[in-house]
Amino acid sequence: MADGSWPWRVGVTASTVAAQPNPIDGSGSSRATCLLAPNPSLMTLDGTNTWLIAEPGSPTVIVVDPGPADPGHLQRISAVAADRGQRVVDIVLTHRHLDHSAGAPRLHEMTGAPVRAVDPAHRLGSEGLTSGEVLVSSGCELRVITTPGHTSDSVSLQLPADGVVLTGDTVLGRGTAVIADDGSLSDYLASLQRLRAITESTDLRLLLPGHGPLLPDPAGVLDFYIAHRAERLDEVRGALAAGDQNPAEIVARVYVDVDRALWPFAEVSVRAQLRYLRELGEVPPGVSW
Ligand SMILES: [Zn+2]
Repeated sequence: MADGSWPWRVGVTASTVAAQPNPIDGSGSSRATCLLAPNPSLMTLDGTNTWLIAEPGSPTVIVVDPGPADPGHLQRISAVAADRGQRVVDIVLTHRHLDHSAGAPRLHEMTGAPVRAVDPAHRLGSEGLTSGEVLVSSGCELRVITTPGHTSDSVSLQLPADGVVLTGDTVLGRGTAVIADDGSLSDYLASLQRLRAITESTDLRLLLPGHGPLLPDPAGVLDFYIAHRAERLDEVRGALAAGDQNPAEIVARVYVDVDRALWPFAEVSVRAQLRYLRELGEVPPGVSW
């Protein structure tokens, strides 16, 4: 986490993950356990982290981010819960992206548990997720923190009993997050500050991300994210000052330290930065995207 590069693993396949158990799988805190979905890629790192949340000994469990519509993964979620004597009673989505949400309808069919999400299109049942709401389930309190930016519907979930926050794709276990085309950099910066403020006001031990390993230094990670965004913005300002006219030119200049395979995703982030700089009146005429 010490530099701004994206040290994402290239060429990891489902079979290599299956052959070498990934330490992310089974990691977590007293009340949160990660089940790693078998969907590794450039954008999903080791795969999607599905989180099972329950007080030990509880007869029920919350599933956060069922992950992709992978029958084996969904079966495993259900089997692990059953092994613990737990019934899935709530399914919660950190945001709408399919690597987190696509398995939710099937898990709903398998368990009968409602799917709670900010985006009404992804709900199954009447309940959404509202800012500051405390979801009381399975012996736990999960506080909803709206953290838009990666997408407009992104939330984080604080589990105060363990001193952890589940961050979805707002903060990743390695590298930095992308601002999607429906996301907003100004929202994202505010969300990072909101999470940073929580590290000041409460005892926060760990961030549990939607991809990659858990993060034991929440304040340090958030400071890195905030500094990284400021550095990238300054680099984009520099590229504009040098006369770059479009996202492709800016990426070639600014993301020279990043694997070329990731440049299409970097362009998505550059467009978000250009939208932000345009709000500030800092994009010269003639720049288009
Ligand atoms: Zn996402």
